Amino acid sequence: MLMLDRRTLLRAGSATVGAAALATATPALAHAPQAGKQAQPGFYRFKLGAIEITVVSDGMLEFPAETLFGDRAEDARGLLTSAFQPPSPVGLQLNTILVNTGDKLVLIDAGGGIDGKFQKTAGALPANLAAAGYAPGDIDLILLTHGHSDHLWGISDRENASLLFPSAEFVASETEVKFWNSPELTAKVSPALKPEVTRANLKLAGPRLRLIKAGAEVAPGVTTIDTAGHTPGHMSVHLSSGSEELLLTADAVVNSTVSFQHPEWPFGFDQDVPLAAKARIAFLDRAATDKTLVGGYHFPFPGFGHVVREGSGYRWMPADWQWTS
Ligand SMILES: [Zn+2]
Repeated sequence: MLMLDRRTLLRAGSATVGAAALATATPALAHAPQAGKQAQPGFYRFKLGAIEITVVSDGMLEFPAETLFGDRAEDARGLLTSAFQPPSPVGLQLNTILVNTGDKLVLIDAGGGIDGKFQKTAGALPANLAAAGYAPGDIDLILLTHGHSDHLWGISDRENASLLFPSAEFVASETEVKFWNSPELTAKVSPALKPEVTRANLKLAGPRLRLIKAGAEVAPGVTTIDTAGHTPGHMSVHLSSGSEELLLTADAVVNSTVSFQHPEWPFGFDQDVPLAAKARIAFLDRAATDKTLVGGYHFPFPGFGHVVREGSGYRWMPADWQWTS
């Protein structure tokens, strides 16, 4: 039998009185304005050797699982549910990377564009850049990993009429730019990708656009890697300072669950499906073998962690949040 002593009874009694008093009191907090989504942190900073890295969020994208995983959508939804991630729409974060080499500010990818240009959940880059302490005019160089909307369109305003970064040099792959400007392009890409908008942005960037071959170092410690497949000139990035290294996926690896457990599955926006799968597996294999820190453009913010082998695939191990940089 449960025995209640006098003190327990007294505590229970005072709790009842307290609850009654609360019920009649004015709930002061209910009148406080809620902070809203702009109160979320939009940037994350840490040191990699002597260079400073700031992840600046452009927000996120949302897609039906069918768009991202095609015939594998049902299986992908199952994997996402097991990983406690929303199965549909599937969210893709937009983690642009700002590298301060000491004498140059290099932005890697520019997000999907302001004012709902691509999706209304994207376009936060300028606001989060300001929160991180930078103006668009501070950026010296913007490295574009490829020509898709969510990486390139953010360089200009909603109408694709003027560049948002007044003094930045743009750097892109020669192969990639040739692909988007090719006269036969419309037969090669889905109209949903709006190749005309990518073209308009490349044209706008033209006077300040430097073309490179994948593998080139574009600033001290910032070296591109050929990961063609997702698009013909797609590049990932290797950052290094002293003995420290960081590999940035760009879109070689997109989803932190599905692309790891089944890197061989086709991904919806991959232009050359077998080549993209090969590049994805090679990227994951290199990161797992070398135990290199990895940053994922579309991974859960801020998108840093390590890759380990698991079964016939891989597993994403997010890095702990660091409070000091
Ligand atoms: Zn992307």
